[in-house]
Amino acid sequence: MSVREVTYYQVVCDHPGCTVATGDDGGPHSAWSSRDGAVWDWTCGDGQTVDDRHYCEAHRVPECCDCGATDSLVKHDDGDHYCPTHILTVRSTP
Ligand SMILES: [Zn+2]
Ligand SMILES: [Zn+2]
Repeated sequence: MSVREVTYYQVVCDHPGCTVATGDDGGPHSAWSSRDGAVWDWTCGDGQTVDDRHYCEAHRVPECCDCGATDSLVKHDDGDHYCPTHILTVRSTP
């Protein structure tokens, strides 16, 4: 039987200096045979995926509760964040 090298994928937090990766959350796997598998596990755990960037639980960035946008967010009185469009929806609701 021959032994050959295969490629596996991990998601690593994009926060500068952070080394948290898939598998650090105590799950059964630390790497996946597909990129999608790794991203799926990261997102199903405590990790966050924003466009093509990934953040661990400690480094999650705020995102709009309605659409997931991360730019120009406004913090609502209840502590949640909304984009400029959706903060208007929330505030106009009695
Ligand atoms: Zn991190
Ligand atoms: Zn929004």
